[in-house]
Amino acid sequence: MPKQTVRDIDVAGRKVFVRVDFNVPQTASGEVADDRRIRSALPTLKHILERGGALVLASHLGRPTGDPAADAPFRMDRPAERLAQLLGCPVQKVSDTVGPEAQAACQALKPGGVVMLENVRFNKGEKKGDPAFARAMAGLVDCYVNDAFGTCHRDEASMVALPEQFSADRRAIGFLVEKELDILATLLGDPRRPYIAVMGGAKVSDKIGVIENLIKKVDRLLIGGAMTYTFLKAQGHEIGKSKVEADKLDLARGLLESAGAKIVLPSDHLVASAPEAGAATRVVKGGDLPADWFGMDIGPETAAHYGQIIHTAGVVVWNGPMGKFETEDFAAGTKAVAHALAKSPAITAVGGGESAEAIEKFGLADQVSHVSTGGGAFLESLEGKKFNSLAVIPDKA
Ligand code: ADP
Ligand code: MG
Repeated sequence: MPKQTVRDIDVAGRKVFVRVDFNVPQTASGEVADDRRIRSALPTLKHILERGGALVLASHLGRPTGDPAADAPFRMDRPAERLAQLLGCPVQKVSDTVGPEAQAACQALKPGGVVMLENVRFNKGEKKGDPAFARAMAGLVDCYVNDAFGTCHRDEASMVALPEQFSADRRAIGFLVEKELDILATLLGDPRRPYIAVMGGAKVSDKIGVIENLIKKVDRLLIGGAMTYTFLKAQGHEIGKSKVEADKLDLARGLLESAGAKIVLPSDHLVASAPEAGAATRVVKGGDLPADWFGMDIGPETAAHYGQIIHTAGVVVWNGPMGKFETEDFAAGTKAVAHALAKSPAITAVGGGESAEAIEKFGLADQVSHVSTGGGAFLESLEGKKFNSLAVIPDKA
């Protein structure tokens, strides 16, 4: 059932708490390195302001330790400044979350006004899901909107105990969460076929839950990235010095046996003499890699083959880079898959921290149907998990 959205609740003349996910990547000096998560919240924020509401925004940022000096880069000032630029109106950043400054600012807030609270994780009650902290936040506002998809898998106070403080007609999801849930409903349902999953990344162990859930639904699962070598070794191949999870060989073998022909492994590989820029590289065909070499990327034949499959798909979900793409020498496979998704007429969804980073870096993020803003939340959703933060939002009437 679709969830009640911000469209369905009364916001005119009200102070609306919007739990956003402004947990943005930061530069060494604490600047906003990538504002995608801030931009993604704009439709919800503009909608509330246009309907005569006022905004009280809260997010976490980074991993505060409780030491004020060390936590200074995790203050919400920079994200608030960026938001003000993007919204084109003032954003009043306060230096506490539920303290006197926040209370005074929220008290004085008028329709069209915007207050950004301090990092919710500066308060110990946030991670614990403390109801007293949730009640203090609820006291600042009239209603609640969850537009923090990237945090939906966390049972923190601002995600679960806070919405519980409001009557059902005052809780809703925002447009970003709605969009993420829509695409997930497609990916977890019975979509247009062929339905193709492309999976790569660092480890099989991180993705077991996703593979086990998706393999039941997809027509093909195309494998790349370092997890390739665990599968190849499980089949008895020589993998040289490539990354491998020696304790996951039985599991990989089990997946290959139960999935039959659905799992497609690379037919060629880019190997390097060392896992670093500038090392000697060559392409090898077949399942066996030369001893002493490192498997760093899928090869060109595999990239072309995966590209064809993606081009004729109905739906494609991609998680996990095809190689160590952060190093230009090993980026070709990931680039080829990203371009194939961009060109494919299929519904194309990309999720996962590094996968989203890759498609952004190649400048193709707006040429796929959806790039998820949630790394962990996207993967846990694909595993079939349900989140308490969404269970507390009523279904659409
Ligand atoms: P995501 O965040 O998209 O879910 P992962 O966290 O699973 O992806 O994995 C991403 C990382 O995997 C990347 O940083 C990439 O460098 C690494 N990786 C992929 N293929 C290889 C490889 N062949 N050797 C070493 N590292 C790899
Ligand atoms: Mg990752």
